[in-house]
Amino acid sequence: MGLDQDRDTLLMIEVAGESKTPTSHIQRTVLFLSAMRHHAQALRDDGWRVEYIELNQRGNTHRFDDEIARQLKMKKLGACERVCIEPGDHRVRGQIEAACERAEVDARFVADPHFLTTIEEFEDWARDRRELLMEHFYRWQRKRLSILMDGKDPVGGEWNYDKQNRKSFKSAPKLPPIPTYAIDDITREVIEGVKSSLPDLPGRIDTFNWPVTRRQATHALNDFIKHRLPSFGDHQDAMWTGETTLNHSLLSPALNLKLLNPREVIDKAIDAYESGEAPLNSVEGFVRQIIGWREFVRGVYYTQEPDYSESNALDCHGQLPEFYWSGDTDMKCMSEAIGSVLDHAYGHHIERLMVTGNFALLAGIEPRQVNDWYRGMYVDAIDWVTTPNTVGMALYADGGVVGTKPYAASGKYISRMSNYCKHCRFDVNKKSGDDACPFNAMYWAFLHRNRERFEGNRRMALVLKNLDRFGNDELTELSVSVEKNREKWGIGPIEES
Ligand SMILES: Cc1cc2nc3c(=O)[nH]c(=O)nc-3n(C[C@H](O)[C@H](O)[C@H](O)COP(=O)(O)OP(=O)(O)OC[C@H]3O[C@@H](n4cnc5c(N)ncnc54)[C@H](O)[C@@H]3O)c2cc1C
Ligand code: SF4
Repeated sequence: MGLDQDRDTLLMIEVAGESKTPTSHIQRTVLFLSAMRHHAQALRDDGWRVEYIELNQRGNTHRFDDEIARQLKMKKLGACERVCIEPGDHRVRGQIEAACERAEVDARFVADPHFLTTIEEFEDWARDRRELLMEHFYRWQRKRLSILMDGKDPVGGEWNYDKQNRKSFKSAPKLPPIPTYAIDDITREVIEGVKSSLPDLPGRIDTFNWPVTRRQATHALNDFIKHRLPSFGDHQDAMWTGETTLNHSLLSPALNLKLLNPREVIDKAIDAYESGEAPLNSVEGFVRQIIGWREFVRGVYYTQEPDYSESNALDCHGQLPEFYWSGDTDMKCMSEAIGSVLDHAYGHHIERLMVTGNFALLAGIEPRQVNDWYRGMYVDAIDWVTTPNTVGMALYADGGVVGTKPYAASGKYISRMSNYCKHCRFDVNKKSGDDACPFNAMYWAFLHRNRERFEGNRRMALVLKNLDRFGNDELTELSVSVEKNREKWGIGPIEES
């Protein structure tokens, strides 16, 4: 970035507005602010001049644009240019630009070095492609970055070992404990400050256990590589009651807050494979998430139009049910997935995609409301990563940019991948009746509702053929049962769409 310790001041700002729109889980706010304060401390120790505006500081305007403009004016920073790493949110970039314009200071954005692919590289890859397929992008990444390659071929002969990675647990899994991080004075102060300035944030805080420093993040990485990576692949898509983490890495917050660099993360995973400590299906599966999905969704975010987040290809206008904020529902899969979000601001990928995301897709909830929930409620949420995953992958609201078909599933999928249905008051094998699993009727009604839209999609041909087996009466019965549930959950009638 070409910064000079003797000349430049680093400006760091905490503003309440970032926790209010959308509403943020208290753990997400505490993590961001604590990591910022620890980073400011490390910078000062390193000899940098840091101008730091705390949440409770008198006069804080609580908006980025106002606060930057105020600081530029008030502190007389003497700035003639403001340099910033490319923000992970179009809105924040707009606010910074506006503030600099107001203060008549030039704004310069520099590429973020915490990714393996620049936006220009992604644009080059995406140019002239009819569709953006993650699998093609991933292979391009493997070759270009020479990761898990054996000359021109993938190590082990296959690009992808997903077929081995779809096992469910047959009995309660025995899992290694996850590391714990003591709350230090800085984090304690942040918690107290957030509680007093933002008293109504959702979620629990007494369970806070996220790395807030580079040292803790490195420890979290090493712990995952040693204890959970070896089994990461096999049960990557599995779910189990009361088990939030399973063999997942929990590294997304540290990666997104730039406490870890993706290169060091995959290097450690590959070292574990090469030294025989982790099998290829686990290491390849993990590497694909980092150099494939993570970089792919970022590329999508920056190369689609800024109004991508407003996409609503399936024309859904339902209200987000109240139980997304309380977990209070008798659908066991939903109460487990939402409960883990309320308790830890975390859920692993399959809970996000195939439980809470799948429900919102099938029930026809308005994408903007769903996206706001995901953007606020997960500890790793930042617009560049949340929006393509929610609007694109989970809701298919972008009409097929991120995924080639909707990730829609009936209760059968959830039953196969978890033990939730065994503890649920609904019967996963039933499609109709008061005790029928609500996902089943919603699934078939969803396909029926969108039949014309999906007609030309080859990947939907089989499920549409299955839909043809339903008679008109049965389809009407399913639609009536969906309407009844939508009313009960406060989603509103489908006719409003
Ligand atoms: C609806 C929805 C919303 C999501 N919102 C977010 C979000 O706000 N922030 C976020 O970081 N991830 C998001 N994801 C992606 C993924 O679910 C999380 O990255 C992952 O669950 C984080 O937990 P982990 O670190 O234990 O992941 P692991 O299962 O251990 O995976 C390893 C790493 O791979 C990366 N990764 C895996 N899948 C994805 C993906 N689809 N997109 C981007 N990175 C990925 C993450 O950095 C993750 O830490 C979302 C997925 C869905 C379906
Ligand atoms: S029966 Fe249906 S609602 Fe209940 S846990 Fe299974 S999938 Fe979820």
